[in-house]
Amino acid sequence: MANVLVFTETNDGKVKPVTLEILGKLAGNTADVAVIGDLAADQVQVLAQYGAANVHKLKGAGLEKYSPEGYSNALSNFIKSKSYDYVFAGATSTGKDLIPRLAAVFGAGCASDCTNFIFEGGAFAGTRPLFAGKCLAKVELTGPKPHFVTVRPNALGMPASPTAGAGAAADVAADAGQIRAAIKEIIKAASTKVDLTEANIIVSGGRAMKNAENFKILNDLADVIGATVGASRAAVDSGFAPHAMQVGQTGKTVSPSLYIACGISGAIQHLAGMRTSKVIVAINTDPDAPIFTKADYGIVGDLFTVVPVMTEEFKKLLGK
Ligand SMILES: Cc1cc2nc3c(=O)[nH]c(=O)nc-3n(C[C@H](O)[C@H](O)[C@H](O)COP(=O)(O)OP(=O)(O)OC[C@H]3O[C@@H](n4cnc5c(N)ncnc54)[C@H](O)[C@@H]3O)c2cc1C
Repeated sequence: MANVLVFTETNDGKVKPVTLEILGKLAGNTADVAVIGDLAADQVQVLAQYGAANVHKLKGAGLEKYSPEGYSNALSNFIKSKSYDYVFAGATSTGKDLIPRLAAVFGAGCASDCTNFIFEGGAFAGTRPLFAGKCLAKVELTGPKPHFVTVRPNALGMPASPTAGAGAAADVAADAGQIRAAIKEIIKAASTKVDLTEANIIVSGGRAMKNAENFKILNDLADVIGATVGASRAAVDSGFAPHAMQVGQTGKTVSPSLYIACGISGAIQHLAGMRTSKVIVAINTDPDAPIFTKADYGIVGDLFTVVPVMTEEFKKLLGK
């Protein structure tokens, strides 16, 4: 049985779902949670339901906004005061920035962007995609503890029946230390939709969208089925969509339950960002488009005809 700390990020006071995925998978081990920032009143209870033994709320000057140095100083001091075997976090933008930095502070091993893991006799064994997802590596961590692990959001899935933990919560005075590179302002994206990396359903458009205005048909479909809209790099480079929407090797890595690729050829760099999606649907006029070799369902057709029909059919099906 391992002694684990899970660092959670929050969104409007709510813990990010990847934290609950990790906690669910950690069942049978002792799992504490550390959070920096505001936590909504009901969230300790939620964390307890998914197995958190203790919830440590780190608070202190300089921690109001994320900064790599401030968060890593605060967390490393906290971790040094405990005896954790492993520290987990989501492989989000923040997790990818923070956790390797923490691992360097401790001179410890770090397994990043894992899509699965188990504990064998208390030792971590993880799976992580390599070479743009072309192969999967089994990773183990050796050397001084704690070891550090980041987990790709949506990869593990929510536990069917999580084991409840004690959920004892306490504030911890934390020191951000010296912050040499301070973030002055964070400008939130205008969209109110779930971030691509956490979305359960994604509808993405490629070069075939032709312009930014045509993304409306994808937004209409997304509104009906509760999806977030993404884009290929060709669509982003052509100015049809902002870079925040790009899926792929130089964009975001996503693992939704359903990925609908509209007018996307399926280049290796795009597949790198979405090939771990549970179900892939491709709509393309070219029956030989490479995306069809990865798709679970393929529709050979013009997306400007197919997508509006899908939207209407989903409306009927879902009573919207
Ligand atoms: C270093 C590097 C990093 C990269 N990173 C990324 C990345 O992060 N993400 C990414 O996406 N790409 C990335 N790329 C680019 C990648 O190689 C492809 O160029 C890009 O993914 C192609 O985008 P696309 O599929 O939208 O366009 P295209 O390859 O041009 O495909 C358009 C598709 O639309 C179909 N089509 C045309 N009209 C219609 C219609 N009316 N209805 C239905 N289908 C239609 C066509 O048959 C075609 O298959 C990267 C490239 C490099 C070199």
